[in-house]
Amino acid sequence: MIYDWSREKVKKYGTRIAITLGDEHNNYLNLELESNQLAGQLIQAGLKPGNRVGLFMEKTPKTIIAMLGISKAGGVYVPLDFKSPSERVAKIIKSSDPAYLFVDSHSIHQLQDLLHIDSELSHIPWIWWSKEPMIYADDKPPVFCYDDIKLQRNTPHGVVRDENTAAQILFTSGSTGEPKGVVITHKNIQTFVNWAVSFFKMRAGERISCHSPLHFDLSTFDIFGAFASGSRLFLVPPEISVNPKKLTNFILDNNLHQWFSVPSALNYLARFKAIPDGGFPSLKRLIWCGEVFPLPALQYWMKNLPDIQFTNLYGPTEATIASSYFTVSEIPEDNSEIPIGTACDGEKLLVLNDDLSTVKQGEVGDLYISGVGLSPGYWNDKAKTDAAFIQPTDMNGNKERIYKTGDLASVGKDGFVYFHGRSDYQIKSRGYRIELGEIEAALGQNEILREYAVVPVKKNGFEGTAIGCAFVGSGVKNGDIAPDLKKNLLDKIPAYMIPHFWQEYEQLPRNGNGKIDRKKLADEFEN
Ligand code: AMP
Repeated sequence: MIYDWSREKVKKYGTRIAITLGDEHNNYLNLELESNQLAGQLIQAGLKPGNRVGLFMEKTPKTIIAMLGISKAGGVYVPLDFKSPSERVAKIIKSSDPAYLFVDSHSIHQLQDLLHIDSELSHIPWIWWSKEPMIYADDKPPVFCYDDIKLQRNTPHGVVRDENTAAQILFTSGSTGEPKGVVITHKNIQTFVNWAVSFFKMRAGERISCHSPLHFDLSTFDIFGAFASGSRLFLVPPEISVNPKKLTNFILDNNLHQWFSVPSALNYLARFKAIPDGGFPSLKRLIWCGEVFPLPALQYWMKNLPDIQFTNLYGPTEATIASSYFTVSEIPEDNSEIPIGTACDGEKLLVLNDDLSTVKQGEVGDLYISGVGLSPGYWNDKAKTDAAFIQPTDMNGNKERIYKTGDLASVGKDGFVYFHGRSDYQIKSRGYRIELGEIEAALGQNEILREYAVVPVKKNGFEGTAIGCAFVGSGVKNGDIAPDLKKNLLDKIPAYMIPHFWQEYEQLPRNGNGKIDRKKLADEFEN
């Protein structure tokens, strides 16, 4: 189970620091005992195996202790982005139907806002998970507070020992406007982490970054990779991510050995030429995942850090953290392509035609994934699960469950898999996974719009794909309505989903079959 790694480390490394955030440090013994106490408290409060528990909290050591405690009590944790607009978080909370909601001093005011807009949520029992003096969410007291767990015995708990049970549910953007919950099992996480710890030769005592938010699965590798190897996890405070100097100082001052993030963060540092003159003497490896690393930025990093390992990981949340890898051993030449590489242990990458036959070498097809990383499916959504996770019969009559990624790929002469973008309306913008349909669904609630289309826009200098919104006003309002539309969207979707470019039309261009000509719109935004 995912809590066994940190538990096993107590004997040998009990007094070693496991997690650091600023001046706050937790050693392995402390992690184990507090999460045992929390598990005891949750069981006493009535948590049942399989119950979901929402983590409406900042990325702190306490939140990670909560993950362990919930898992030990047999629960399934659901990390929530409390900074997202209330309407969207409310949808996610309702969909996951949590038995409890953990709240801390960073998020309590957002919870108050949430209860204001949606009183249905007020029946969810909440837990004050902070050392700070308690603040009430509404007039209902919490089920228990952080200090209450001190009365619990700290003997080990492990209510459920079946690795195929759910450990976490991660919500991602959904094309119909409803975020989708990807269910991830203990086994899914264990298999990837065991592979990665061995592949990257992670060693006890290493210093590991945790840059991604907890609702992104990159952080799942940081956390459990650190625990599996007996390393020390350094939580990167979100506010320093937007300051190149602070970010580089973070790597330098904490003598990090491993950095793992979306390329956007690395591209940002490259744009500011932020790598210090002496490089990062402790850094052994730089790993990225989630989107293409722009070549000039990768070249910059490799030139400035000639002695470290650079590895591209590829994979969707639905196949757990990553499914393939490629280590770039030499500074790539201009215009070369970095493959997404070879499948991780126990996984397969399949590039298939429409009839699910294998494409010829070099041809572009749909990328499917099979194997140990595959999620059991979307939370409470059989239709979406059945559409994305299929089980065709091969020529030999064997059935294999495969996940359609929505990515286009080819297999090169070198046997490596190459990524060729998406076949649908999902994009990556500054590292965030976004379904353009989710933005359109939010726009659709606007009465001042007659027609609209949200399209991906490729722009030099932009990290990932920018977003363009073409619209036709209803004539109810005169003048530029884009600022009103933006303001309205900010109440519904996260800031990273707000379109960067806006263009009003008298009517949207159509192609031959009468559909909105999205290609034309994208071209117009690009030029
Ligand atoms: P997410 O579920 O947020 O990890 O997003 C998964 C999607 O991100 C994939 O289906 C790809 O479109 C994209 N992606 C993930 N890793 C890479 C990579 N190394 N290179 C290019 N695209 C990637």
